[in-house]
Amino acid sequence: MNRWALRARRPTGDARALQIVHDEDRLRPYLEDAAHFPGGRAAGLVAAGSEAEIAAALTSASHVLPVGAQSSLTGGGTPMGEVVITTSRLSRIGPVSGGVVRVEAGVTLTALDDALARVGGYYPPAPTFMGAFIGGTIATNAAGAATFKYGTTRDWVEALTIVLPGGDVLDVERGKTRAHPDGYFELELSKGVTRVPIPRYGMPRVPKLSAGYFAEAEMDLIDLFIGSEGTLGVVTAATLRIVAERPAFCLLFIPFDDRARALHFVARLREVSRDTVRTRDPRGVDVSAVEHMDERCLALLREEGADRACGVAIPPGAKLALLVTLELPPGTSSDRAFEDIGRVGVAGETSVDSPLGRFLGLLSEAYCASLSDSRCLDQVEIALPGDRARAAQLLALREAVPAAVNSRIGRAQQAVDPRIEKTAADMIVPFERFGELLDCYEREFARRGLDAAIWGHISDGNVHPNVIPRSMADVESGREAILAFGREAIRLGGSPLAEHGVGRNRTKQRLLTELYGQNGIEEMRRVKRAIDPEWKLAPGVLFENS
Ligand SMILES: Cc1cc2nc3c(=O)[nH]c(=O)nc-3n(C[C@H](O)[C@H](O)[C@H](O)COP(=O)(O)OP(=O)(O)OC[C@H]3O[C@@H](n4cnc5c(N)ncnc54)[C@H](O)[C@@H]3O)c2cc1C
Repeated sequence: MNRWALRARRPTGDARALQIVHDEDRLRPYLEDAAHFPGGRAAGLVAAGSEAEIAAALTSASHVLPVGAQSSLTGGGTPMGEVVITTSRLSRIGPVSGGVVRVEAGVTLTALDDALARVGGYYPPAPTFMGAFIGGTIATNAAGAATFKYGTTRDWVEALTIVLPGGDVLDVERGKTRAHPDGYFELELSKGVTRVPIPRYGMPRVPKLSAGYFAEAEMDLIDLFIGSEGTLGVVTAATLRIVAERPAFCLLFIPFDDRARALHFVARLREVSRDTVRTRDPRGVDVSAVEHMDERCLALLREEGADRACGVAIPPGAKLALLVTLELPPGTSSDRAFEDIGRVGVAGETSVDSPLGRFLGLLSEAYCASLSDSRCLDQVEIALPGDRARAAQLLALREAVPAAVNSRIGRAQQAVDPRIEKTAADMIVPFERFGELLDCYEREFARRGLDAAIWGHISDGNVHPNVIPRSMADVESGREAILAFGREAIRLGGSPLAEHGVGRNRTKQRLLTELYGQNGIEEMRRVKRAIDPEWKLAPGVLFENS
């Protein structure tokens, strides 16, 4: 068989087990995703237990939407009249062997993490929401805080099993099926061969990207399905690479009173951490994630009392805060870390040669006049390795920011206008251009008089500017600001769509057109038509129907 061709097989399992539920009470929990996309309705619900049931649902229904945990922030997980297929019953986790694990699509990241913890393994590319299903994270090419060190979901998927819209099943293994040099794949399906043309647009070179179909000369077939947001097939199982040994880590909450210094600090952390990974220096600084919260976020935390609830003192003059994940050699004890902090922070030793000692040295360059100045470390909140309770508090503080914004949106919806909705962006630029993008966010928000908060994954140059709308006019003005951000992100060599995907969100669909042009959207439609000629799967997700 040609290396650009793949033969499908028949589904396993018993199609007669298919049950389509129509009871409204049972459908109701599936009518909305985390974006609270309005107007959700479903023609039925299938809780599939096998490939055959999914294939039967696909062949019997006119439109189908596969869903995972419905934590999508784009409306992609909200049905608009389709039969919903939930993968929640596909929850088996295979044994870990040879650095990989086989999992079904309905396994949550939490369940996978628990299973891997028992054998010491670790699956790093998790989004900030651990309830997400493996199938959903693959469909959206989810990424998260630790992309800087570990990449996105795409980098960890070795094989996929996918039920196609016509009911055939593909087993796709990375490295086995590559596009023809003329730019197509051939899929041998039960009804004949379909030729799938590869789009020719160039993708921005950024560490995370969830912006329509992946496209590259002689690309791997598996990459076409990763990030396709349920529009090309239903993922039933995946083989994932894992890290054999879980790292120990410290979490550090670091408030800054000056943005330029904070950005410089992050740039230094990126630089030295890359060196550490390259040289495998056991004493090197190895940061896997830096999260960012701007001044408005810090104000929200105070307004909500989240700072007190999480036992964190946010200094009054703080302009932003960083939450840094510093990885330490496996097995590093909290006693050892405590000792390092004591030597640096209390005894004022400037050259403690350990990962934490070196990190504190960098912090002192960026932050304090001298490390012997005890006030320096007083402002930094640290969760030592193994201190799960303190780490949970610092993570809860970060999570309290989107929660505070979402609750304000909910209140405005109730009290002011039911059309008010989440108005937020998820953009990425090469880190060197990140300061320019932040300037653009602040300028465009200020010009429109919008209340807004900005937080996210600064180590990737990827943060989420969010409007805190007081009226429908704020939502409309915020959407215009987001289109302006998108043009700026593209101009800076980045992407207006980084990790959440496109879904049904009209602004994100416009941003996708800004990124690839109308031609690029037409090329994606050709892929869709080749695999799903009846436009059955997730219609209206990524782009308008054909
Ligand atoms: C608090 C919070 C924090 C978040 N943080 C992040 C973050 O840091 N990074 C990030 O990337 N995302 C983040 N997200 C968004 C969301 O968690 C991710 O997009 C996640 O990957 C969605 O997984 P899910 O199982 O909920 O999928 P769903 O929301 O159910 O579905 C998402 C899309 O995938 C498709 N799909 C689902 N399952 C399948 C399947 N088996 N086969 C084919 N298609 C399928 C759906 O049709 C839909 O288009 C966050 C969300 C929340 C609520």
